[in-house]
Amino acid sequence: MNKPVLTIVVPCFNEEEVFTDTSFQLSTLMTNLITNALISNESKILFVDDGSKDNTWNLIETESDNNPYVKGLKLAGNVGHQFALLAGLETAAKHSDCVISIDADLQDDINVIPEFIEKFWEGADIVYGVRDKRETDTFFKRNTALGFYKFMGKIGIKLVPNHADFRLMSKRALEELLKYKESNLFLRGLVPRIGYKSTEVYYDRKERLAGESKYPLKKMLAFAFDGITSFSVAPIRLVTFVGFLSMIISAIAGAYAVIQRFLGHTESGWASLIISIWFVGGLQLLGIGIIGEYIGKIYHEVKRRPRYAIEKDLYSVQEKTQQHNE
Ligand code: UDP
Ligand code: MG
Repeated sequence: MNKPVLTIVVPCFNEEEVFTDTSFQLSTLMTNLITNALISNESKILFVDDGSKDNTWNLIETESDNNPYVKGLKLAGNVGHQFALLAGLETAAKHSDCVISIDADLQDDINVIPEFIEKFWEGADIVYGVRDKRETDTFFKRNTALGFYKFMGKIGIKLVPNHADFRLMSKRALEELLKYKESNLFLRGLVPRIGYKSTEVYYDRKERLAGESKYPLKKMLAFAFDGITSFSVAPIRLVTFVGFLSMIISAIAGAYAVIQRFLGHTESGWASLIISIWFVGGLQLLGIGIIGEYIGKIYHEVKRRPRYAIEKDLYSVQEKTQQHNE
């Protein structure tokens, strides 16, 4: 096998605080990988600026002028982590034999990247980075995440537990992934569906280098909810089931009331009446809400809107000028 061209894709949203350090660490790693003949010297680091409001893009542009490993992709606006990553992957796929995705804050241990490449050499098409411990996460985040994976497993969505978006993919696996054209993107649910040979590499997750998490609780919840409703109709079924159950219960209660009436007991059931009205009312709203969520998803999907817009692509531009010079 020829030495593979690797692109490391790094989505960045307001990451000026960590950029310089991240770029330095990844470049050092690149040099090591190239010296050890694990990857081709054509390999690159692609920073995707997801519509940052701070100085991130300027830093990327300057760095790409001075650092031969660094390329930049500027999106026209903020589209969120998953789509920014997708934009990077799609661009990288044109130029590389394998692609690694990693967050800009380097919470994922870049020291396992050589192991990723070794697995690729051994024939794996997908290498998942899996967190060994989650000690650096808060108690809350750790347990909600754990509960989430368990729940997803129960309703039949295949996920690799404790794997975020730190992974290696071969060109052919990536090309399969890019065939999924959905507007509700949950990459870590899609990748395990592709198939091909996959393997896992374990590492410890660290603290953010600097800056704060771009995933506050609200976004995390929305992300989890998207993950569920993009892959499963189980919640709709659950609502149907609960609705059915409450109908049976109220039928039994009705029969009971009739019998009581014939036995001469007058009804004292004001409380139960109020409770059941509220209960059923709530149930209906819940059901409508969940169905609405799916209809919203369908609405988004049928529009087939472009998922991101590229403002500047320093990766492809460079290649073109090189071809001109040849
Ligand atoms: N990110 C992005 N667009 C966004 C939000 C985040 O590209 O709208 C990037 C961010 O720069 C980082 C990665 O997604 O590289 C993960 O974000 P973060 O580290 O804040 O999430 P956490 O690790 O706290 O889950
Ligand atoms: Mg992070």
